Amino acid sequence: MNYLIVGAGIAGLSLALRLLRDGHQVTVAEKQKGPIDKVCGEGLLPFGTTLLDELGLLEAVKKAGGSFDGIRYRYRDRSVEGTFRNGARGIGIDRGTLDRMLRQACHEYDRFELLEGHKIQPQDPIDADRVFAADGVFSLWSAPTGREVCIGNRLGARFRLVAPPPDKVTVRFFPFGEVYLTPTGTGSLSVALLLRRNRIPVMGADLQPWCASWFAEAFPELAGSTWLDWQTRGSIVATYRGPMPKVHLLGDALHTFDPISGAGMSFSLMCAKLATRYAEDPAGYYRAMAPIRRSIADFTNLVLFFSGGGVRTNVMLRQLALAPHAFNRILAIFDGRHRPWHLGLKHAIPLLRPW
Ligand SMILES: Cc1cc2nc3c(=O)[nH]c(=O)nc-3n(C[C@H](O)[C@H](O)[C@H](O)COP(=O)(O)OP(=O)(O)OC[C@H]3O[C@@H](n4cnc5c(N)ncnc54)[C@H](O)[C@@H]3O)c2cc1C
Repeated sequence: MNYLIVGAGIAGLSLALRLLRDGHQVTVAEKQKGPIDKVCGEGLLPFGTTLLDELGLLEAVKKAGGSFDGIRYRYRDRSVEGTFRNGARGIGIDRGTLDRMLRQACHEYDRFELLEGHKIQPQDPIDADRVFAADGVFSLWSAPTGREVCIGNRLGARFRLVAPPPDKVTVRFFPFGEVYLTPTGTGSLSVALLLRRNRIPVMGADLQPWCASWFAEAFPELAGSTWLDWQTRGSIVATYRGPMPKVHLLGDALHTFDPISGAGMSFSLMCAKLATRYAEDPAGYYRAMAPIRRSIADFTNLVLFFSGGGVRTNVMLRQLALAPHAFNRILAIFDGRHRPWHLGLKHAIPLLRPW
C-alpha cells in the first residue's frame, strides 16, 4: 500500500517506521524543515519506553537520555512521590535527538520519502491509498472530520539547564501553572512550564526574563545553572465531540488531553501501533484507542482539577502523602497494564481519610 502521513512528529515518524517494516510505501509530509526540537517536558513514561523497544530504538534512546523511576509532586513545602511498579523506569530524552533517531531509522528503507517544507491540507489533491493525520495540536484534519476543539488558556515553554539529574520527574505546582523537571541525560535537566496566560503578568519578549528571575527565586538550588535554550509554544485543553472521523488522527491531533499528564509522547507511540494494526479500519482504530484515551484523560482531569496552586492542590498532596500505595497504584497506568480507577478498596479508602 501507498500511505501518506501528515506531520513528522513522534506520532508521524513512529507510524512511518511501523508501516515501512510491514512492507508499505510511506511518504511523510512535514511543514517545517530539519530535525524538530519541540517544547516538551521530554519525559517518556514506562509504557512509552516499551513501545520504543518495539521500534528497536530503546537502547539508543536510553544511552542518549536520562532515566527516572517515578513522579514527585511539590507544592510549597509539601512533597509526595510515587514510584512506577515492578522497577519500571521512564526516560528523559531531548526531543531533537529523538527526532533525529526516528528519521534515521525511517531513512534505512528506500520505500520512505520525507517531504520537508510541505504543508498538506485536507482540501489538497492527494495521491495515496490512505492518509494519516499526525499534524499536532493545531491539526487541520480534526475540524473537517467532525471534532470540536477548544484552544485553552495555557502556554508551554521549555528550557534546559546544566544541572544534576533528579531520580524522578518532579512536578511543582504554582498558582500560575506547573513546572516539570526531567533528567534528559549527559548532565542536562529539561524544565518545561505549563503556564496559565491569565495568571502571568507578562507576555512576549518579557516572558523569558520574568521566568528567569522567578525561577532563581523558586529553585535556589538551581539558580547558578547555565541555561541552554529557551522556547515557547501555545498548548491546549481540547474537548472531544462529534462522530468518529474517517481519517486516522494520531497523537496531539486526536485532542485527547492536556500536556499535564506527561503522557503525550507515549500516547503518540501507542496511536502509531494501533493505527498500523487497524490501517484499513479507522473505526476499529478508534474503538481500540478508546480505553487508553479514557484512562489517560481521567488521570489528566484529576491532576487538572487539583492543580492551580491553592487549597485543592494542598488537599491532593496531603491525601497522596497519607496513601503512598494508592499513588503508586495510580501511576501503574503508566506501565500500560492498568486503568487508573482500578484501585482496590484498600487503596482507595486511605485516599479519602479525613485529616
Ligand atoms: C509544555 C509541554 C510539556 C510537555 N511535556 C511532556 C512530557 O513530559 N512527556 C510527554 O510524553 N509529552 C509531553 N508533552 C506533550 C508532547 O509534546 C506531545 O503530546 C507530542 O509531541 C505529540 O506528538 P505529535 O507527533 O502528535 O505532534 P507534534 O510533535 O506536534 O508533531 C506534529 C508535526 O506536524 C507538523 N505539521 C503540522 N501541521 C502540518 C501540516 N498541515 N502539514 C504538514 N506538517 C504539519 C508540525 O510541524 C509538527 O512537526 C508536553 C507538551 C507541552 C506543550
